[in-house]
Amino acid sequence: MSVAENLPVALSYWKLPKSELRIRTDVTPYGTGVFACDAIPAGTPLGEVRGTIIEGTDYQSDYCMDLGEDLSLEPDAPYRYVNHSCVPNCELYQIDIEDEYGDVHPMIVIEATRDIAVDEQLTIDYAWPAEEAIPCGCAQAKCRGYIVHPEELDLAVKLHGVLPQRTVAGDFAPTVLPK
Ligand SMILES: [Zn+2]
Repeated sequence: MSVAENLPVALSYWKLPKSELRIRTDVTPYGTGVFACDAIPAGTPLGEVRGTIIEGTDYQSDYCMDLGEDLSLEPDAPYRYVNHSCVPNCELYQIDIEDEYGDVHPMIVIEATRDIAVDEQLTIDYAWPAEEAIPCGCAQAKCRGYIVHPEELDLAVKLHGVLPQRTVAGDFAPTVLPK
């Protein structure tokens, strides 16, 4: 694993329009979360997810984001603290920015996918692979039970067990199925 030191500098060639919207971090039952201080209209790009770009396929962390081409982004605050929801109000997308030398650099942007109210928590769908799935406490009616890619839910249940019905958000543990 090595850090591609030239990339964060190159990313500054392209900047999002300055936003007047304010966000804050705060404590949640699942660690730090990110909250809106202002109402945010659907479709608003909130900002670039800045951080450290890391080369290599073996890099793992709770927060890292896949950039393709064996690159990962280890995000900085505040957006490293955006929690998962199975029914999220934001999404991440990647833009590949070409610099003046013709080199292409990946950038991740977080955008509101629906109107977000003041003091509402910003969430994204982590869509983890089944092997890495953990029980979800998002408390949405359409919660998958696991933090997992929707198409890998069946596999997650096979690997980790059926989850009992939740009584309190986050207050549940997997039931291990007999092999
Ligand atoms: Zn959920």
